[in-house]
Amino acid sequence: MTGFLSLRGVRKTYVGANRQRVVALDGVDIDIAEGEVVALIGPSGCGKSTLLRMIAGLDTDFQGELSWTRQPRPGKDIGFVFQEPALLPWRSVERNVSLGLEAQRDRSAEGRNRVRTLLDLVGLSEFSQSFPKELSGGMRQRAAIARALAYDPQILLMDEPFGALDAITRDRLHDDLLRIWESTRKTIILVTHSVEEATYLADRVAVMSSRPGRIKAVHEVPLSRDRNPTTRQLPRFAEFAGLLRQELE
Ligand code: ADP
Repeated sequence: MTGFLSLRGVRKTYVGANRQRVVALDGVDIDIAEGEVVALIGPSGCGKSTLLRMIAGLDTDFQGELSWTRQPRPGKDIGFVFQEPALLPWRSVERNVSLGLEAQRDRSAEGRNRVRTLLDLVGLSEFSQSFPKELSGGMRQRAAIARALAYDPQILLMDEPFGALDAITRDRLHDDLLRIWESTRKTIILVTHSVEEATYLADRVAVMSSRPGRIKAVHEVPLSRDRNPTTRQLPRFAEFAGLLRQELE
């Protein structure tokens, strides 16, 4: 089977300052289907960020095969959300979200409408003219998600996007992301340290082994797609998160 995105035998070696070679990834195989949410979990240093950077096209120096059904256009078809939202402090929320469109000289009404729709989708319409320093951490991360979606990318890559938020804000953002997925059906790859986050948000969870990283198991999350806060109380939820935790150990 080949997917929307297929990785076969992906291997990455870094050469450090003293010419020391670090094999970060070795033999990574996975197929990702369109519209799917896949969480990537694994111990620190197992190569999760490296893998996302390759998928984003930011790192092309690797061995193995990375193929798409539709080759993404660089800087356009891939949305990236990092742990730190990195908004430009001198631009309003709206102008941060539209930044990429401006860089592409997209001044179309469609582009402007998309920005408004996205601000609405992430619940920031009322704050469109506010500046990043006037927003809470959760709101800033919502703005970063809207910015990543502004090009209407074919995939959204998220590198521990909720890692810096407090627990209550994180839970809210989880529900926001589920809502965003409901209305956009974007393919999402989410790197996380949290087995609960992976369980709550993903269709499948790929568990990586420690360095050199490879994907040692991929599990279907045994929950219906229709998730809400009560999902966390289901016995199946705790069982599955427990299984993931065991695999990480
Ligand atoms: P993770 O995101 O899972 O924590 P990373 O992808 O950041 O892991 O890193 C994987 C491994 O590659 C780590 O051992 C890290 O030290 C090494 N590494 C990452 N970037 C570089 C680099 N630019 N040069 C040398 N080694 C690196």
